[in-house]
Amino acid sequence: MGYKTMVNELIETLLDFVYPRNIYCILCGEVIEKTESYSLCTTCQEQVKFITSRFCEKCGKPLESMYLPQKCPDCIQNVHYFTKGFSCIEYDDNIKKLVYDLKYHNKRYLAYHMAEMMTARFMKLEWEKPDVIVPIPLHPKKEKERGFNQSALIAKYIGESLDIPVEYRSVLRTKETETQNRLNREERKENLKNAFQIIKSQKFTDKKVLILDDIYTTGSTMDACAKELCKMKPKEIIFMTFATGRNV
Ligand SMILES: [Zn+2]
Ligand SMILES: [Zn+2]
Repeated sequence: MGYKTMVNELIETLLDFVYPRNIYCILCGEVIEKTESYSLCTTCQEQVKFITSRFCEKCGKPLESMYLPQKCPDCIQNVHYFTKGFSCIEYDDNIKKLVYDLKYHNKRYLAYHMAEMMTARFMKLEWEKPDVIVPIPLHPKKEKERGFNQSALIAKYIGESLDIPVEYRSVLRTKETETQNRLNREERKENLKNAFQIIKSQKFTDKKVLILDDIYTTGSTMDACAKELCKMKPKEIIFMTFATGRNV
């Protein structure tokens, strides 16, 4: 184990100690029962919109019951480089705050609970087990600023509970990209062009790859990464994110 990994492990352990799990609700801060799942109080569990009913068979976005096609309008119109994917929860103000707290307020313990929810969802779907997990990498400069990559942290916990290896350094983010929030689909695509680079290609050849990220919006990031991975001739590329919006 390298020095840096050791230090990271130590920080993780200390954080677990500073933020003992399942004592406060991660959304409203109320004291919760030890038995509550995902460190969410009963009220918040009821309010969180887990995506369990109809969702797009391609990108996993939730679909209105009155909307008949099996794919969302985006996936009918646009080509994606992944086979299929899913998200755990529908994006709303509470979830926005949760993801923001993880990324910008250094609340790393939230990644553990997000991973718990995603793992449970993955088991329910009964999809074939992937061979390898690839967290969407951050540009090294951004990762240094933030101190960690939230997707890698979530991937670590999911990998541990599903017993799937995680490739942290085989996919690199080689281009510093603008924040995507204000960009439209075409601009996002342009922004992410050649943003990823794969090293150790043999790790993905003939493998079932699961890409992991915190949020799926238009899928531009997911597609840019999947497109690069496709060149390595994997068996299949699927994805999993914590939250997603809806477009119908
Ligand atoms: Zn709560
Ligand atoms: Zn879709």
